[in-house]
Amino acid sequence: MADNQSGMIEFHWLMDMLESVEVGLVVLDMDYRVSVWNGFMENNSGITASSIKEKNLFEFFPDLPEKWLKRKVETVRLLKTRAFTTWEQRPYLFHFGNTRPITGTAPYMYQNLTISPLTASDGVVQQVCLMIYDVTDIAASRQALERVNKQLTMMSEVDGLTGLLNRVTWEKQLAGEFERIRRYGNNAALVMFDIDHFKRVNDTYGHVAGDEVIRHTASTLTQSMRQADVAGRYGGEEFGMLLPETDVEGAVALCERIRKAIEKAEVVTSDGTIQYTISMGVAPILLDTDHYLDWLKQADAALYTAKESGRNQVQVFDGSASVE
Ligand code: GH3
Ligand code: MG
Ligand code: MG
Repeated sequence: MADNQSGMIEFHWLMDMLESVEVGLVVLDMDYRVSVWNGFMENNSGITASSIKEKNLFEFFPDLPEKWLKRKVETVRLLKTRAFTTWEQRPYLFHFGNTRPITGTAPYMYQNLTISPLTASDGVVQQVCLMIYDVTDIAASRQALERVNKQLTMMSEVDGLTGLLNRVTWEKQLAGEFERIRRYGNNAALVMFDIDHFKRVNDTYGHVAGDEVIRHTASTLTQSMRQADVAGRYGGEEFGMLLPETDVEGAVALCERIRKAIEKAEVVTSDGTIQYTISMGVAPILLDTDHYLDWLKQADAALYTAKESGRNQVQVFDGSASVE
């Protein structure tokens, strides 16, 4: 008698805990009728235990992924083992509001879910228990971390002044594209170009105005390029452009468009209105080029020729000339 009584007290104690624990507890029979619905579920759904008890869960929650949940529960019943689903696999089972003040920006409550079999004395699973954990804080901070990481990656790959790829990243892409082009025998052209007499721009208008000119070059470039073209800031006032699937005529035509646009432009700065020109070197991909650095040298050689021949022009690499 005394044993039984202390057993009852413990049982009430346990029920109180389950009622107030910060985890959703739902017990379902094999027809998905609700037999336990704790305080967490009441508070977050607005549906009281007394109104949902003995009722079919899906009638109260038509938005639940019925097929998915039934498949899970069926597996738990057959295998008599627990099943676990994280918020990363499925953000939530029950569409509850986010109640966490510090992660108030999350649109809903992220949930982890455990489904446990409840075995009767004959060993048959007659009920399952769903445990719903509020993991909004974890999900929100993980997502914030991922956003920061993306931002950091972006910042480490992109040149701050122009928004073009920086040298390291551009060269990496060039190396990769070169291998691909080699393997599949595709056409491609590489362009290197440099602002003419840029020292004079700096000397006449100052460094800040010089930066404006560099930015203007980059934006002219971006406006003229196609989606697949890869442009980078190679050095101070030197740029590289990789043009996949482009023959030499196409590359020269694009370069001429850019060269003329820049020749025509007036860059208005607080230190004066600046006109400037660029020189460009084009190197079509050649069958006997074995390394992307050799390709780069060829484009550089063509650029050198353009400078030597009077600047403000486009030159194509002459395969018969040495580039060393
Ligand atoms: P050339 O026609 O032969 O190319 O003459 P240049 O004066 O442009 O040649 P050079 O490459 O010798 O000079 C480039 C100058 O660009 C030197 C450097 O001070 C300046 N420069 C490099 N990076 C930047 C930058 O980020 N901003 C500014 N304003 N100037 C830069
Ligand atoms: Mg220059
Ligand atoms: Mg230079």
